[in-house]
Amino acid sequence: MKLEQSAAHRTEVGPVQTIAVGPVETIVLSAILGGGPVGVELGQLYARLGIQVALIQSADRLVDREEPGLSSRILDALRDDRIDVRVGSAVERVHGDRHGPILNIADGAQITAERIIVATGRTPRVHDLGLETLGIEPGPRGITVDERCRAGDRVWAIGDATGVMPFTHVGMYQARIAAADITGQDARADYTAIPRVVFSDPEIAAVGLTSTQAAEHGIDLASAEIELPEAIARPWTYEREPRGTLGLLADRGRDVLVGAWAIAPMAGEWIHYAALAIKAQIPISVLTDTVAQFPTYTEGYLKGLDQLDLN
Ligand SMILES: Cc1cc2nc3c(=O)[nH]c(=O)nc-3n(C[C@H](O)[C@H](O)[C@H](O)COP(=O)(O)OP(=O)(O)OC[C@H]3O[C@@H](n4cnc5c(N)ncnc54)[C@H](O)[C@@H]3O)c2cc1C
Repeated sequence: MKLEQSAAHRTEVGPVQTIAVGPVETIVLSAILGGGPVGVELGQLYARLGIQVALIQSADRLVDREEPGLSSRILDALRDDRIDVRVGSAVERVHGDRHGPILNIADGAQITAERIIVATGRTPRVHDLGLETLGIEPGPRGITVDERCRAGDRVWAIGDATGVMPFTHVGMYQARIAAADITGQDARADYTAIPRVVFSDPEIAAVGLTSTQAAEHGIDLASAEIELPEAIARPWTYEREPRGTLGLLADRGRDVLVGAWAIAPMAGEWIHYAALAIKAQIPISVLTDTVAQFPTYTEGYLKGLDQLDLN
């Protein structure tokens, strides 16, 4: 559809001021495709630099591999930043006219953007290298490795190329495993407690299993969800308007944490308490007998652990 600027008029769609031409056209400066960690981080960055952003996510919620409680809260945060977030909206086609790129959304809407940022995921560049001549057949997610990061005879793979978890810290961990194996040490990778952080504001942090994954593993799950402003003693130590939520997932059978998630200031720092508890399978009775510094977000763990119904 041709864009008629002269017919434009200003209107309000949700919290975002947009320029609509007819009922379904919107003009923004940046349209971001994808509401995963990269889309969320970049969308918020641009919005806070004063750029009008539309964030279009095909899944029915943002950061959809994580707990739904995180998705709804980051959605609110992004809308507070006046981002035009559209979930359950797949971009079907991108084309252009003299005004710039135009995005056709599945629901019939059209967005004209000065810039488009595609953040719909990454795949490793491991195909067409001839790895099959070494007996290595890369799959769609990358090069399959064993727990020592071995990909084949005298071949190791580390980092995003393995498709295990595409994070810098995972690549660095795998590098240590591979180096140990190459030098004859017995090292095996364990991915059960790798932190996953989205550097949004507030930060999203998660570690271990989600509740969906725990159900798939047949775990008898106890879960707790606490609002940090009510749970910690002095929430205004770090913020004038305290905010944040912590979720804990425990295995009733083994009396250990199997997952944790948080959306709160500095969550990417204090998620490591849960990472260690999950990795070392520390009994919950030991965690509840461990004292947290007052006044810190870590106090929230003790409140959350208390709320787990472990019987
Ligand atoms: C926007 C964004 C934000 C991110 N933020 C975070 C974050 O906050 N924390 C985090 O942990 N992770 C983050 N990541 C993921 C992180 O960047 C990757 O997990 C990490 O870079 C993986 O390291 P790597 O060395 O395996 O691959 P890369 O960093 O992708 O490096 C691979 C290199 O190999 C080169 N290469 C490709 N093909 C060949 C070839 N045939 N021959 C030789 N060289 C080749 C490429 O040029 C590239 O330089 C982010 C990713 C993106 C896109």
